[in-house]
Amino acid sequence: MKRIVILALILALLLAILAGCSNSGPTTGTGTAPPPVSPEAPSVNRENDLPGKVLKVHFLDVGQADSILVQFPDGRNMLVDAGKNDDGPRVVSYLKRQGIEKIDYLVGTHPHEDHIGGMDKVIRTFEIGRVYMPRATTTTRSFKDVLLAVKNKGLKINTARAGVTILDQGNLRAYFVAPCSSDYEDLNDWSAVTRIEYGATAFLLTGDAGARSEAEMLASGANLRADVLKVGHHGSHRSTTTAFLKAVAPEYAVISVGKDNDYGHPHRETLVRLAEAGVKVYRTDRDGTIVFTSDGKNITVEKKGRR
Ligand SMILES: [Zn+2]
Repeated sequence: MKRIVILALILALLLAILAGCSNSGPTTGTGTAPPPVSPEAPSVNRENDLPGKVLKVHFLDVGQADSILVQFPDGRNMLVDAGKNDDGPRVVSYLKRQGIEKIDYLVGTHPHEDHIGGMDKVIRTFEIGRVYMPRATTTTRSFKDVLLAVKNKGLKINTARAGVTILDQGNLRAYFVAPCSSDYEDLNDWSAVTRIEYGATAFLLTGDAGARSEAEMLASGANLRADVLKVGHHGSHRSTTTAFLKAVAPEYAVISVGKDNDYGHPHRETLVRLAEAGVKVYRTDRDGTIVFTSDGKNITVEKKGRR
């Protein structure tokens, strides 16, 4: 009797071993078995996950002009404006120092020399993805140089206007909120205005958009709120109206402006409006290049000093 029990146990053990073998799959390593599941594999929804990477927005010190570099958390880059004609080499060397080889999105806010002057050099130097400009033209040499550089590189210009999305990855979005119309007397009002969202943080880059464009943006119902506002038109009193400032409600503002410039920018009225709204103001003529870093929740500011 005892022997039968032992035999039964041995038989059960053999069956168990055989059953185990049948689940272990082939041993030849031909890859038909499913890959092992790591217990550390994250179960988060990647679409909504902030991967610990940061968004960086650099306001370059290019004097009385604009040039803004945006480094997205996934490694892609956007350049909004490229300073004046003689700022081209400075913008290019700054981008190279950041290790940039490709500009995935190049935005010329409007065809004034202090915004697109250095753009032809940028286009010739770097690999370029998509180029965006508003449907506005001038007859200046600077503008023709940009068109020629675009053509010579086999690129085309995508229209920048309200409602056009540059990129949308759920937590990370960049899109235009202006221009809203297709006829402006003032070339500044053609300015492509870009809103960038990363997590709970947002940036608004306004080019030289004036009061008319600001009123249109407000009427459009677009979300204008931003933690960081690139003040329109170098701090001109014709931009940054009280109503617009109230809608944007920024914590920080950046004025891209040259020291002792001919226009008296930034105008006192604008500085007063920003002060009354309790906005912390940075200026490229005093602080040099200014870099904002967002982790999707918080924003930090770094002043890199004069060029
Ligand atoms: Zn300008």
